[in-house]
Amino acid sequence: MRLRNIPGSREVIAENKYCIKETEPTKGKWHSIFGNNHPIHIEIGMGKGKFIMTLARLNPQTNYIGIEKYSSVLLRGLQKLEEDPLDNIRFIRMDAEDICQMFDMDEVDRIYLNFSDPWPKDRHAKRRLTSRQFLALYEQILKKDGVLEFKTDNVNLFDFSLEEIKEAEWQLHAFTRDLHHDDAMNQGNVMTEYEERFSAKGNPIHKFIASRF
Ligand code: SAM
Repeated sequence: MRLRNIPGSREVIAENKYCIKETEPTKGKWHSIFGNNHPIHIEIGMGKGKFIMTLARLNPQTNYIGIEKYSSVLLRGLQKLEEDPLDNIRFIRMDAEDICQMFDMDEVDRIYLNFSDPWPKDRHAKRRLTSRQFLALYEQILKKDGVLEFKTDNVNLFDFSLEEIKEAEWQLHAFTRDLHHDDAMNQGNVMTEYEERFSAKGNPIHKFIASRF
């Protein structure tokens, strides 16, 4: 999702109370940033943030952090949040490749990846957010019992991701190739913007849940 550049979006984000600056020392400090010891769940590539903001409203006892590379996209999420504020959510505008600069070892309880960019060319495989290179980063910040949840309608990306999970020696706990017709896995499912768009076209949604240990 690459919206046109919105002039001034970087400046708006830099001053917004929900946005953590990439230069802020957050590593190991998230519980004091939120002022509680609630679990920390992050979404990487949150887009306009519908999914993570819905979860934050449903689960006030969990802290949520949305990560998005583009300020013009993140700005849409911020606008929605300001209309209806929440205490248990923060955003970071950053590239996920720098994620270990923002979180300490064992600091994160759950990572969500939703409809991540497929990067279809083989030579770009390591840019996919489920590549073994990214899994190695997630392993550093996830708790021992922490989980990774991934949803997509892209069959090639899903197959690639299952291979990477195996290659990186992660454990696959559950998966489905048709989430919306899988009663067990669909229970409590919160749809993302892309999920609404692609499932309306009839594309089955694929999902897995995995952990390192
Ligand atoms: N998760 C949302 C959903 O399901 O509706 C948005 C999906 S959109 C296809 C992928 C999003 O991931 C885009 O907003 C893109 O800017 C963001 N993204 C892609 N690569 C990223 C990276 N390396 N770090 C942070 N965000 C990234």
